[in-house]
Amino acid sequence: MDPHTKATQVAPFAPAPGPRHPADTAQAPAGHTTSTAERGSFCLAVCSCGWTGPARRSRDLARRDATRHTSAA
Ligand SMILES: [Zn+2]
Repeated sequence: MDPHTKATQVAPFAPAPGPRHPADTAQAPAGHTTSTAERGSFCLAVCSCGWTGPARRSRDLARRDATRHTSAA
């Protein structure tokens, strides 16, 4: 009866994968996701498809451009 000194070393398998953020890259693969971007004192609508609206003096107008783009597509 000998004590079990030679314990098999089982390393803890993989380090726990950190908490993942499902909404890490919230990019719609299809469709149009619009937002507004500011350029200097102008504001323009940009879309995930690459479309950009004309530079507007107000964000309201840029947003309207974006809405028109998404509804037109
Ligand atoms: Zn678009």
